[in-house]
Amino acid sequence: MGQFTLPDLRYDYGALEPHLDGRIVQLHHDKHHRAYVDGANQALERLAECRRQNDFGKIAALERALAFNLSGHVLHSIYWRNLSPDGGGPPSGELAAMIDRDFGSFAAFRGQMIEAAMTTMGSGWAALAWEPLSRRLVALELHDHQSSTTQGSVPLLVLDAWEHAYYLQYQTDKKKYFEAIWNLWDWDDVTARLRAATRLELDLEQVAEAPGGEANP
Ligand code: MN
Repeated sequence: MGQFTLPDLRYDYGALEPHLDGRIVQLHHDKHHRAYVDGANQALERLAECRRQNDFGKIAALERALAFNLSGHVLHSIYWRNLSPDGGGPPSGELAAMIDRDFGSFAAFRGQMIEAAMTTMGSGWAALAWEPLSRRLVALELHDHQSSTTQGSVPLLVLDAWEHAYYLQYQTDKKKYFEAIWNLWDWDDVTARLRAATRLELDLEQVAEAPGGEANP
């Protein structure tokens, strides 16, 4: 009995070519993403079994497995929605204004994201996230799927820097992939995520200064 499910792609496997090969999209979605869905469901089921047996001997490994696989499911689900055959170019509107405010410029933001992806040690992601305490955007460099994140932050745009995301097409030239993917970003999707994220309240007070300048959306 699974609780998490693999979402369908909203485009054909080959729709993101030439920037992302259809073979990569198919394997990445059908095999890799599915493995995280299955792993998260299995971890939940095994934790329930621990409770039923009142035997928590394996709890540390199971909690690690839940964090890894569920985070992988969340990030991949966002990644597919962040990409579009009609994507690319610079963002506009409130998202563009907030990127300018919090990173200085779109070019600086793009440069930081590519460098974060380039310097992941082993496997990881670069992520644009909404940080609800300071009510601003931050760029994160996630290790695996779940480490080096900041609690409470909401991922808005995620760049998969695992080898399985590019190797069939780009081999060792991963920077080419990290640059090509900017032709695919669906800024409407990122803007919708930003609007939803800014409604999140952690219900904390006196934890950060109010952001200067422009009002939040
Ligand atoms: Mn991946």
